[in-house]
Amino acid sequence: MRHFPIFLDTSDRRIALAGGGAAALAKLRLLMKTEARLIVYSPAPAEEITAWAAEGRLTLKHRPFVAGDARGAALVYAAEEDAVRDAQVAQIGRAEGALVNIVDNLADSAFITPAIVDRDPVTVAIGTEGAAPVLARAIKARLEAQLSPVLGRIATAGKAFRSAAERLAPGRARRDFWAEYYDSAGPRAHEQGGEAALRPALEALLERHLGAEPAPGRVDLVGAGPGDPELLTLKARRLLDAADVVIHDRLIAPEILELARREATLIAAGKEGFGPSTPQQDINALMIEHARSGAHVVRLKSGDPGVFGRLDDEAEALDAAGIDWAIVPGITSAAAATAAIGQSLTRRGRNGSVRLLTGHDVKGFAEQDWRALAAPGAVAAIYMGKRAARFLQGRLLMHGAAPDTPVTIVENASRPDQQVVAARLAELPGALDGLAGPAVLLFGLAPRAAANMLPEIQEALS
Ligand code: SAH
Repeated sequence: MRHFPIFLDTSDRRIALAGGGAAALAKLRLLMKTEARLIVYSPAPAEEITAWAAEGRLTLKHRPFVAGDARGAALVYAAEEDAVRDAQVAQIGRAEGALVNIVDNLADSAFITPAIVDRDPVTVAIGTEGAAPVLARAIKARLEAQLSPVLGRIATAGKAFRSAAERLAPGRARRDFWAEYYDSAGPRAHEQGGEAALRPALEALLERHLGAEPAPGRVDLVGAGPGDPELLTLKARRLLDAADVVIHDRLIAPEILELARREATLIAAGKEGFGPSTPQQDINALMIEHARSGAHVVRLKSGDPGVFGRLDDEAEALDAAGIDWAIVPGITSAAAATAAIGQSLTRRGRNGSVRLLTGHDVKGFAEQDWRALAAPGAVAAIYMGKRAARFLQGRLLMHGAAPDTPVTIVENASRPDQQVVAARLAELPGALDGLAGPAVLLFGLAPRAAANMLPEIQEALS
């Protein structure tokens, strides 16, 4: 982010603008929405500018911008539409300590003016760092359509009520009050009785919230999917947006954590491969402690929380503590991995069942029903299988699996750095060399394009 968006307090500030043509007009229309004292320098200003000056909306100097004119100005706009003149204006502005914008000259400007959606006091600023003004306009149009035209009035009434609402406990109680006002009570009151109805609606709502029992804390055990934020469920998104505390696995992608409410407490817990890990008991204790304090806790787990996610430990601990909980399923990495290679997990005539295996469990390498796995056509998604690859290979070969059984390794499934390695059982564990991220081994599945089925299966299908 080269340009950091901030909101500048313009009350009692001076903004100088050099120019009197079309570029100046466009900027002035925007700047006149502020409370700044506007001073325009132009020997030959457009008619509109003269008219605005006559109305007292700006001060007009019928002369060029010269040294001394930027003194005390917070911002200077060079809008002469002449590169040489604009550069002179900019130089004076900078020398006199103002931030300078040269219209349509990103490189030489100290700041840029965003596209603005104005629902004063609610202002949305959209910037693309000059990359795509068309996109900024499209986003603006979308937001204009989405934000009620009376949002500003609703927010103004809300702003005036802030100190009254401090009778509610800070945190959740206040947040719930404001959420209800902005989501429903405010818009409804305005629709029924206009601006005058907003204050009484706020008062009635406050009385109701003051009388309400504080909602008890709870925990949602939420699946975050394999990494692509678009593979989150709508419910997971909504809960992330509502949570007070998010306790997340280390595998969770930063783009997903970005979706948590800004005020939410984010706590990294759990395991990263064989790296540092938080003991399960500590995670349980954290969830319980926060929920007991009345917080809405989201326990965010990669993939589906019910697949190798220690879900039962957590659910049992919550039950024992008498805390309300629910599970929100997610897309497990095996599903994302098979999607990545254009395959399905089950297929008529090939495999009527699929196994989800772990390469190792708390006791070490995990034993499985190897005979069934070694049977032709068997498909298994192996989680946490990298370290166990040689062990898996040995057991499967010993029980009669064909050495050329396909094993496809999908690392970082659904993430930008996803990697697919199409291998054969005989090529484990070497095929995993260099893969540092989380990976699922799809035993019995080859990427669709390279599908090279065992003769027995081809026979069975023909
Ligand atoms: N609950 C998770 C699994 C947690 S166990 C789920 O449903 O996906 C952790 C293992 O999941 C990792 O060792 C790896 O095998 C697998 N895994 C998690 N995210 C992955 C991803 N994006 N790509 C490939 N494998 C992943």
